[in-house]
Amino acid sequence: MTHDSRHAHDGLADALLDLLRAHDPEIAGLMQNERDRQQTTLELIASENHVSPAVMHPMGSWLTNKYAEGYPGARYYGGCVFHDQIETIARDRANQLFGSRFANVQPHSGAQANMAVFMALMAPGDTFASLVLKDGGHLSHGMKINFSGAYFKPVHYPLHYTPTHAEFERIDYDAARKVCMETRPKVVMCGYSAYPRVIDFARFRAIADECGALLVADIAHIAGLVAAGVHPSPFPHAHVVTTTTHKTLRGPRGGLILTSDEELAKKIDKAVFPGVQGGPLMHVIASKAVAFGEALRPEFKAYQQQVVANARSLAAALIKHGFRITSGGTDNHLMLVDLRTKSDSLTGADAEKWLEAAGIVCNKNGIPDDPRPPRVTSGLRLGTPAITTRGLNTADMVTLAAWIDRVLSASGAENATTQVRAQVKSMCERYPLA
Ligand SMILES: *Cc1c(COP(=O)(O)O)cnc(C)c1O
Repeated sequence: MTHDSRHAHDGLADALLDLLRAHDPEIAGLMQNERDRQQTTLELIASENHVSPAVMHPMGSWLTNKYAEGYPGARYYGGCVFHDQIETIARDRANQLFGSRFANVQPHSGAQANMAVFMALMAPGDTFASLVLKDGGHLSHGMKINFSGAYFKPVHYPLHYTPTHAEFERIDYDAARKVCMETRPKVVMCGYSAYPRVIDFARFRAIADECGALLVADIAHIAGLVAAGVHPSPFPHAHVVTTTTHKTLRGPRGGLILTSDEELAKKIDKAVFPGVQGGPLMHVIASKAVAFGEALRPEFKAYQQQVVANARSLAAALIKHGFRITSGGTDNHLMLVDLRTKSDSLTGADAEKWLEAAGIVCNKNGIPDDPRPPRVTSGLRLGTPAITTRGLNTADMVTLAAWIDRVLSASGAENATTQVRAQVKSMCERYPLA
């Protein structure tokens, strides 16, 4: 974004906040606080990003007023002529971006997308294979109290847990094959929330074919990398691909389902509506279309390449400071830091709290085989999508690693935290958000 257009957008955002302030000062004040928080802190939560003003605009617009149950050309309400065109553009752009034939842009979130796909591909009680949450999977891949674990039967495939193994903390594909051949799942799920390595979709497809399952790739985290060709595509291997649109893809909060199989596409459309949702969020679908349009531009590829370069640089710098990175590094936008190599008593919960006080926002995360419970953990998950959006480069990653080390080595002591907080603030000023 140019300096002038950033300035213009700031002015518009101020004017809109002023309008809201006159109407509802309480919420306007909190929105301004959140705007300031984002502007003055470094966002390392791997699943978050900062959308452009163009992506933001449709979400706060008159498009929210419309009921458009159904699909383009087949709605249950009148007055959908422009919504039909918006949704058609969103679908076409999504297919162009990922190389699929059919797109459903209506899921309200990634979990809703998975729920619809489960409903389309399985009957309640059916078995599916996935990676368990504590190894980097997602709660919608079979957690007991989630729909996926309550109404379907998950079986889990493992990582390599032996430190001396060359593939330590990576997916154990041979064991995955064995689990699938023994349990004959209807669906094999791949794609994760905290896995720093390339996923071998072809290998998963071979496993799915051999055990008679459909392969679903949930690329919620890596969708932007895939769209930019920085991570291999799940197509043509996966039968169905689900994703969020708000993580590396840098669109609005929402879900997306893709396939190139016409029969599956029909089942998926029915499962989304009327299966698990009513009216689509047309204001969000318009934002998805804008985000897909941005992702089709050459700048997006450069952005994703920088996301990965920054992640590598940050991981390498943290290793130099004595932190262990699970699996020895990263191929994508995120890494898991094993804090125990720094200090036996250092937990993910403490690290998250101390870093936040210094203006470095991230989340505690279990590492594979973590002896500590999920509310404590021995790890931190760090991601570079949001800080790369604001313009940080690989040299800044070396600085950032030193700040992280300083705060954690000082156990969050006040003088260290205060000093780093000031340095973070001035870096944020150098890289303002649009
Ligand atoms: C984030 C994520 C989701 C769910 O996204 P929500 O929009 O929060 O429901 C699903 N699958 C994976 C692998 C994810 O990382």
